[in-house]
Amino acid sequence: MLYKPFQDLKLSTLGMGNMRLPTVGERGPIDQEKARAIIEHAYHQGVNYFDTAYRYHGGESEGFVGKVLSQFPRGTWYLASKMPGHMMNYKDGKLGFQGYLAGEEVKSIASIFEEQLEKCGVDYFDFYLLHNLCETSYDFYTNEELGVVRYLLEQKEAGKIRHLGFSAHGRADTIGKFLDHYPDTFEFVQIQLNYLDWELQDAKSKYRLLEGRGIPVIVMEPVRGGSLANLRPDCQQLLEAARPEDSMAAWAFRFLQSLPGVQVVLSGMTTMEQLEENLRLFSQDDPLTDDEKALLQKVVADLADLVPCTVCRYCCEACPQGLDIPKLISMYNEINYNKGLGSLSFTLNAMEEKELPSACLGCGACEKLCPQSIAIPEVLGKFNKALQST
Ligand code: SF4
Ligand code: SF4
Repeated sequence: MLYKPFQDLKLSTLGMGNMRLPTVGERGPIDQEKARAIIEHAYHQGVNYFDTAYRYHGGESEGFVGKVLSQFPRGTWYLASKMPGHMMNYKDGKLGFQGYLAGEEVKSIASIFEEQLEKCGVDYFDFYLLHNLCETSYDFYTNEELGVVRYLLEQKEAGKIRHLGFSAHGRADTIGKFLDHYPDTFEFVQIQLNYLDWELQDAKSKYRLLEGRGIPVIVMEPVRGGSLANLRPDCQQLLEAARPEDSMAAWAFRFLQSLPGVQVVLSGMTTMEQLEENLRLFSQDDPLTDDEKALLQKVVADLADLVPCTVCRYCCEACPQGLDIPKLISMYNEINYNKGLGSLSFTLNAMEEKELPSACLGCGACEKLCPQSIAIPEVLGKFNKALQST
């Protein structure tokens, strides 16, 4: 197992995500025997970072993972969990759950945190995160009357949190704004990062922002929910021709090994076979060569049929509506690939009418300035149509 220093710790570069543990039936409870075997084997093979959250496996993951790890000496494993603020709201001094948890009672931020410690059977979390900082959870996490961050900093002071961070599905500017709002507060950030989302979700901007600020990156969705482990046959053939011995997952993990700011790559492993393959991949540092990076770029372009915006922003200067054109193009690429909104719904919900593609006048002033000759009004028109049909 490869390790990287994190302050005074040595963290395994492969981390165990605990939201895709094996279950009884398709959506049943955790298959305790199989899941226990996977976690124990990961630990014995040197994995020391274990990530869970309040609602993984319907709330079962935290307690289960804590119980399995408790057989090993505390201090030889690091447990991460998350405050579910993205599923909560705070109105008129009242805290509540929303979404599929709407109606469930919640007393306070403190009661959730204490419940998590108790469920996990620990006195402290090694790593604790605000869950999913994004455009729609931003106001919740920055509400000073509620004081989520203030409360967690108090817990850190009291020794119940060793390292504080957040996970984010928000866009790079939202992450940057949050880091500015709480300077010198967060020690690590967890983002969705893989070679496809490098372009599709503009993960490159998030990574570069964090790397520029010296904040270690914890990676989630390294194989994009498994889709990068099973590519379209023509894309797979391209990669196999270059490295016949390698699996598709190996390409995804080696891409991440090429990014020095990556601290831990979380993989949600459901089978022992996945774990064994990941252990093999993380036993040697084998970053991509420049030629291999170029090949992956071709695969991404083929896979996603991307509008090739380079985010130079020349077009923005000409737009009478002040539209953030590269941001809209990046969102269009994502929707087009996913055939749906996915996590973009967070961003879209927080946008005003005047920021949406429907605000485009079709004047074409932007197009004349685009060095990539992108038919911008046409792309925004298609984006608008896609939004109307969702
Ligand atoms: S076509 Fe739309 S995006 Fe382009 S400059 Fe005109 S209003 Fe702005
Ligand atoms: S000018 Fe073209 S390439 Fe540059 S940001 Fe605008 S759309 Fe993208």
